[in-house]
Amino acid sequence: MQVRAHTFSDESIAPAGLILYKHSMAKEAQRPNRGLWIGLVAGVILGYVLNLWGPNPDRERLLTHVIDPLGSIFLRGLFITVVPLVFASVAAGMTRLGNMASIRRLGLRLLLFYACTSLIAIFIGQTLVTLVRPGAGVPQELVDKARADMGAQLASLAGNSNQVADSLWPGLVQSLIPRNFIQAMADGQMLAIVFAAIIFGLALLALKPQDAKPLVDVLQAISEACVTIVGWIMRLAPYAVAALIAATLTRFGFGIVRQLGAYLGVVVGAYAIHFFITYGLIARYLIRMPAREFFQGGLPVFLTAFSTSSSNATMPTTIRTLEQRFGVSPAVTSFTVPLGATVNMDGTALFEGVVVIFVAQVFGIDLTIAQQATVIVLVFLTAVGVAGVPGGSLPLIMSVMAATGIPPEGIALILGVDRVLDMGRTVLNVGGDLLCALYLSRVEQADSANLPCDTT
Ligand code: ASP
Repeated sequence: MQVRAHTFSDESIAPAGLILYKHSMAKEAQRPNRGLWIGLVAGVILGYVLNLWGPNPDRERLLTHVIDPLGSIFLRGLFITVVPLVFASVAAGMTRLGNMASIRRLGLRLLLFYACTSLIAIFIGQTLVTLVRPGAGVPQELVDKARADMGAQLASLAGNSNQVADSLWPGLVQSLIPRNFIQAMADGQMLAIVFAAIIFGLALLALKPQDAKPLVDVLQAISEACVTIVGWIMRLAPYAVAALIAATLTRFGFGIVRQLGAYLGVVVGAYAIHFFITYGLIARYLIRMPAREFFQGGLPVFLTAFSTSSSNATMPTTIRTLEQRFGVSPAVTSFTVPLGATVNMDGTALFEGVVVIFVAQVFGIDLTIAQQATVIVLVFLTAVGVAGVPGGSLPLIMSVMAATGIPPEGIALILGVDRVLDMGRTVLNVGGDLLCALYLSRVEQADSANLPCDTT
């Protein structure tokens, strides 16, 4: 396993562009992904067969004693690296960026990239759901049945969504600045951890380089060690991907697929357009990398996201893949990936918008252009606050519905199929982070090439 050595002094004084590694995309991104593909296919087949077998004690035993634990080892293994990795890599990453001007420039580019790709995603979803109108033919009995079946889950989601609707802005302040940082770390509050790490990194940058260096070296070593651990955990990926996908499909209600076929088609179609066309075009024309190389090189990230449905759990794999497969500098990954995994959610924004309009159609509510525009704005804003965990967006979708006069309990209709759609939107969420890091790496490298100094 490749381990890099960095020193604070040589990187911190360099202009941002100069701290970037030379890209080695072509070679590393071609690395075969056979094991992961086999895991994916095996998981789908096993899940489908177990689903056909139907609920019975033997199947439950197989799930709880063999399949679930295998998935949990992988998932928990990734999760334990997230908090130390995020804090250490963001704080050390700020010092690697060299100076405030670089940080501001990178930050602005990053926010612009996030905003544009999220708006494109929302636009794709809104266009498809408005044209196809998947909610128009859904019978009222199905809504009533779903409401009855999902009663408990609905009540707990409604509790969360009320809190969100009442306190979008104060809630954001509280999740950014916790009262107790150790508590925030223990609870895995990613927004607070990223924010604290940025402030800490800026403080290190304000010190004399020789005073900051010992701590920066420690932070860098922590993040290197976490990435190394992720490398070990990823050896389990083919088996874990198979186990996680099989477990999800086994518990999935295929029966409802027929009734919600149009809805599923719209969501999956919109995901596919954004993933293959928007991301493919960005890779090709903004990053100047063959789209195939992006999709192939990013496969470990996409499959981790697909099987875990969690941007947070995927974050260490995203960092590792960017650095080791695409040759992106830790200076870029350490800052952009944790931030992206926390606030940049293209798939979630797309999905939230589709669900809100779908439920409005089911209830025969005709939204005016102004109401649809409100949905777009709310979806865009709330997607930023969604936790990168399975089902993280559901309470926020209910709050958007409540704010636009659409019955929030209508979400019951889609809860039964949500886990599978969550897999897809998480792939888009992390795909956007991967793409953004590659884009920043490229533009920063181009900037540094225009500077009149030598790169080493
Ligand atoms: N599962 C998604 C993620 O982790 C969040 C969501 O949309 O529910 O990115």
